[in-house]
Amino acid sequence: MSCEHRVGIGWDRHRLVEGRPLVLGGVEIPHDRGLHGHSDADALFHAAIDAVLGACGADDIGTLFPDDDDAHRGADSAALAARVRRLVEARGFRIVSLDTIVVAERPKLSPHRAAMRERLAATFGVELDRVNVKAKTGEGVGPTGRRETIEATAVALVTRA
Ligand code: MG
Repeated sequence: MSCEHRVGIGWDRHRLVEGRPLVLGGVEIPHDRGLHGHSDADALFHAAIDAVLGACGADDIGTLFPDDDDAHRGADSAALAARVRRLVEARGFRIVSLDTIVVAERPKLSPHRAAMRERLAATFGVELDRVNVKAKTGEGVGPTGRRETIEATAVALVTRA
């Protein structure tokens, strides 16, 4: 049986603002600020969604869930990811693996890596050992290093039988 493999990449960045909860990888992380956005602004899930969509040639998150659509105001990005999983599975794709990097100067994300990884794996229907979340800092430079933003990058591998 021949299998078609495809890779996709996703990237996202959101501003840190006061008065918002910080949600990354579907996990609420204690912090004095949260990410600004139309949805819950979960940059990690947004990058992962775009990686999966990119691999399947299925547009991008902004096209599927426009930020001027009130239906997505305050949306739970894990729920959007579950919809994306169903969409790509309906096209005959299966997500094989997902590798991600989330960059934040503060808060320290390493204590939350396991929870973020489990949430991504469960939501996208991928075995835990095929999902990874790596946490880095911005080394004090650029908007992320100055604690103005948090950003994430993801690569997805999908297959179609
Ligand atoms: Mg986003």
